[in-house]
Amino acid sequence: MFSEKLITRLKNAYTVTVLTGAGVSAESGVPTFRGKDGLWNNHSVEKLATLEALEKEPDLFWQFYKWRRELLKDIRPNLGHYALVDCENYFEEFTLITQNVDNLHTKAGSANPIELHGNITKNRCTNCNDLTPVNCIEEEKEVPKCNKCGSLIKPDIILFGEALSQPVLGKAQEAAAVCEVFISIGTSALVEPAASLPYIAKGNGAYLVEINPEKTPLTENVDEAVHLASSEALTNLVIILDRLR
Ligand code: NAD
Ligand code: ZN
Repeated sequence: MFSEKLITRLKNAYTVTVLTGAGVSAESGVPTFRGKDGLWNNHSVEKLATLEALEKEPDLFWQFYKWRRELLKDIRPNLGHYALVDCENYFEEFTLITQNVDNLHTKAGSANPIELHGNITKNRCTNCNDLTPVNCIEEEKEVPKCNKCGSLIKPDIILFGEALSQPVLGKAQEAAAVCEVFISIGTSALVEPAASLPYIAKGNGAYLVEINPEKTPLTENVDEAVHLASSEALTNLVIILDRLR
């Protein structure tokens, strides 16, 4: 499953960085919204998940996000998420970067994952930037407004057309640049700027690993591709790490 070379690299590694994508949550049953699930009540998600939609049709926008939050409410982390929590114990520096907004890494117990695309369990004001956890607003019928300034609020995620937070992206790029082993897991490696992180790592000498049952554009550029589901690959990885340390 893993090469001797990777095991030796991991044995000697001080700094390891992992990037996760929607595939890591697939085994928890989190629906993707690409492909066949790319429509919601006949609306395109690419058009709904935008600031323009929030401004023009706030009711529809919030119906969509309340539905997504409802779907996530009973979803639990899977063995892959828990294995990534365990990984923190084996390296001096272990950084988890995720493109997922589903909060499952935090639910599993990962400390401070870098959430590149935000977190759907929080709300942010579009005007004053005030950040609040989701609370009683979910029971309200109408469009939620900021408690501080009365403006429209949005789920604290990067909507289509919005730029990533520069400080958050900067932290992720730094973690990619300094690591000795970089593992890309369950991401189609298509969405920029996350897709560039593995190349930053490789350009700085890291051993690059991909865990994904399918081939991606990244596959031919990695040092090692593991074509397995993330839960199986990561549970085995932890068993190996446990033997090493
Ligand atoms: P993607 O949907 O583009 O790609 C998912 C990848 O996961 C695919 O390459 C697939 O082969 C792989 N995969 C499927 N099952 C797997 C498994 N069991 N183990 C390992 N890999 C598996 O996802 P992406 O690259 O993360 O990009 C999607 C974008 O949509 C991101 O911007 C993300 O923020 C957003 N999104 C987030 C969630 C979430 O929060 N869970 C869900 C859907 C989409
Ligand atoms: Zn406000």
